[in-house]
Amino acid sequence: MTDKKYDSGFSFYIPLVLLAAFLLGCLSVALISVRENVLQITYSSEVSASDSVKNKKNVRKSPVYDDSGLKYRMVSASDLNIQKEEDVKKTSAEPVSSEDDTDSDSSEVSSDVSSQPAQDVSSEPVVSDEAEPDGLILPNDQYINFTPHKEGYVAYLTFDDGPSEYTEDILDILDYYNVKATFFVIYHKDMADKYKAIVDRGHTIALHTYTHDYKKIYRSEKAFFNEIDRIQNYVYRVTGTRSRIIRFPGGSSNTVSRHYSEGIMDRLKKSVPARGFVYHDWNVDSCDAEAYNMAPEKLLANVQKSLTKYRKPDILMHDAGESKRTTVEALPAIIEYVYSQGYSMEGLQLDSYAVHHNW
Ligand code: ZN
Repeated sequence: MTDKKYDSGFSFYIPLVLLAAFLLGCLSVALISVRENVLQITYSSEVSASDSVKNKKNVRKSPVYDDSGLKYRMVSASDLNIQKEEDVKKTSAEPVSSEDDTDSDSSEVSSDVSSQPAQDVSSEPVVSDEAEPDGLILPNDQYINFTPHKEGYVAYLTFDDGPSEYTEDILDILDYYNVKATFFVIYHKDMADKYKAIVDRGHTIALHTYTHDYKKIYRSEKAFFNEIDRIQNYVYRVTGTRSRIIRFPGGSSNTVSRHYSEGIMDRLKKSVPARGFVYHDWNVDSCDAEAYNMAPEKLLANVQKSLTKYRKPDILMHDAGESKRTTVEALPAIIEYVYSQGYSMEGLQLDSYAVHHNW
């Protein structure tokens, strides 16, 4: 009996002891994990703070390459190392007869500029010494922050023939530099989202005919406006914007069209404005249409050759897929160069200065 009593008494305490041990274990685990959490929070906040400092530094060095997820090798003016300040000065110091033409033309259409008190910009050299200490090219966003903008100097980046598989990348680059551009589009199947992205991201969408097929579009005035109506309606359907800004395939000076209808360009140059459209040629040619993926260095050099002759340069480039990959690669350098010369970059509007070829 006593043994039994003893046995049952002992077995009564076992669960209590186990329970107490279990509770003690739980308490210590909880304490340890709280302590670790506190440490972890402290540690991670230190890490993220130092990371963000580090990232900021990286962003300054090669932001487009590191952060945007672009799949192309990005070049900047400093990478290309072909900007020579003396060359630029020589170009801008040349007597530029065309600038006078540009100015007199632009004064009547650019109300935004003419409403400002007249700036003494014509006598200033276009190259700004203070923006380029020791002739160095400052990388990327430093241009944007420190290059003084010259009143009335506006560059229009224009991309013809798109959209393409590169449109998003072009838009990312434009966004990064916070500049606006103009896309003269034609019809491409299954790319509705790209037309829409152009508009949604604040750029100008403009018309470059539906098919870009010279023998169709330049057969007659009727055929041309049919092409314009079709692309205008399509763009309106997918973007909600009804554009009245046109660029003729080949430009207003093209000579190919006469094979399809003699004198068609002369007639169109009159009937286009008569129907409420404006047309834009270009005065700075990147020449990216002249070769399959022309080297980015060459594209930049082509822009540098004539940009500073004009207060309102209209720079021709193409958003045309695989054959124009290098245009995307050169774009950061081109934008940085244009900035370095004191220009802002805007999308074309109906009342913007319109470059017209007169040859
Ligand atoms: Zn074209």
